[in-house]
Amino acid sequence: MLSYQHSYHAGNLADMHKHGALAWTLAYLTRKEKPLSYIETHAGRGIYDLTGPEATKTGEAAQGIGAHASWFPADHPLTLARNATAPLYPGSPAIALHLLRASDTVHLAELHRGEHAALSAWAGRRAKVYKQDGFALAHALCPPTPRRGLLLIDPPYELRSDYSDIPRHIAKLHRAWNVGTVLLWYPILANPAHKEMCSALLTLSEDSFCHEVRFPPARPGHGMVGSGLYVLRPPYGLRDELARLAGCFATL
Ligand code: SAM
Repeated sequence: MLSYQHSYHAGNLADMHKHGALAWTLAYLTRKEKPLSYIETHAGRGIYDLTGPEATKTGEAAQGIGAHASWFPADHPLTLARNATAPLYPGSPAIALHLLRASDTVHLAELHRGEHAALSAWAGRRAKVYKQDGFALAHALCPPTPRRGLLLIDPPYELRSDYSDIPRHIAKLHRAWNVGTVLLWYPILANPAHKEMCSALLTLSEDSFCHEVRFPPARPGHGMVGSGLYVLRPPYGLRDELARLAGCFATL
């Protein structure tokens, strides 16, 4: 059952963590002329109306990018992507399509029928959009052509088994694609479900780390109290950018 819809959460504090890191990484990778592959396992609809009923119902965007857009300076790649899609908010596919070049290849998986239809209509011919399980797609594509590139894994964590399945998927992808950067987002919940997953992920490579930020719950009783990123083969400088962002989150 697919019940998660990102329209309720787009632009929240967790998105600021994930999208800040994603945009920075893509800007870094595109400094070299060589083309790259961008693969996303859980793409969502691509672009979000933060004034729509879903976003205003939760108020998460107002607590996130609505209140703290200044964390990203005018020349930050996330700000540039936001400017390009304004007044809509760019989801990860829109950030990627704004920052990547015509020579790069973009693969986006989205399983939810309505989200997939919206994503396909919005992306048009700029990306290869698949209505397929994201991990199945990633296993089928890796190693991709071009070989350089980034894999973003952003599951909704609706199943508890996600936490034990993800390290197995990433281990296999790591063996298949020994040059790609992998970025995995995970929620920090009141329960420590993510901790075992992170421990398992960190054994895969010395060239990897987890980065976590904390924030107040969006509403009383809301389970998410922070945002985490696991990065395999991080680009040079990403740790510094994440440390800068952590300083912003520390002011909350
Ligand atoms: N990455 C998006 C962004 O940052 O803009 C948000 C994605 S949202 C957190 C997760 C998405 O995964 C949802 O749109 C959901 O429908 C989709 N999804 C759930 N299970 C999936 C699966 N097995 N394969 C592909 N997509 C899936």
